[in-house]
Amino acid sequence: MRFAVLGSGSQGNGTLIASGDTFILVDCGFSLRETERRLALLGVAPAQLSAVLVTHEHADHVHGVGLLSRRYNVPVYLSQGTLRGLRKPVEVAGFLACGDTLNIGALQVSAARVEHDAHEPLQYVISDGRRRFGMLTDLGCYDSRLLERYQGLDALLIEANHCRDLLARGHYPRFLKLRVGGSQGHLNNHQAANLVAELGWQHLQHLVLAHLSSKNNLPHLARQCFVDTLGCDPDWLQVANQEHGLDWREIA
Ligand SMILES: [Zn+2]
Ligand SMILES: [Zn+2]
Repeated sequence: MRFAVLGSGSQGNGTLIASGDTFILVDCGFSLRETERRLALLGVAPAQLSAVLVTHEHADHVHGVGLLSRRYNVPVYLSQGTLRGLRKPVEVAGFLACGDTLNIGALQVSAARVEHDAHEPLQYVISDGRRRFGMLTDLGCYDSRLLERYQGLDALLIEANHCRDLLARGHYPRFLKLRVGGSQGHLNNHQAANLVAELGWQHLQHLVLAHLSSKNNLPHLARQCFVDTLGCDPDWLQVANQEHGLDWREIA
């Protein structure tokens, strides 16, 4: 099983998870052309995609979903609420709700509801039956029920959206600061590091920090926060960025 990131941040998100000839793309926040380009860099043709899973209706997650699915006949799975929230409807292969599991080729998907200012945002744990990859972005807070769904992971991609101090001192208007930092917004570096500490990280092969704000965070601040909280090796932490995402990582 392996995973890669097309890009991560408020300008567009996309994460690929693969096992054998099964390829699942979670979110497609880029234009069709940009998605094709980024997939090609990872050695994947769009027609190889087995499914697109959508986490929620914000543009940085859905921008290219409709075109990609129509052009290449890729089935789309999302929550009923996410479909309601979409500005342009897409053809849906199936609905997912919190707690649902879905088999797609060699992979099994489990959906978890998160707190975010969207209609029915879901995040996903994906397994090949042996290894578990979890992704967790676009959430303002978490509780023990969510942590339960993310037990026993071998790799985790987690949002480290902003630094509390940079957000407070920055130029965002007050309403936006409240939105981003609120319980329906995004995890800051400390919240994300604490979440991972609570979850336990000693068995993780990969820990990837994602969805970093270009205005309210810096990769070295996010890293340092995790190093301070977890006591982990700074070189072990990985950051998926907006421009280049993250190249394939093998989950052994
Ligand atoms: Zn987002
Ligand atoms: Zn969002």
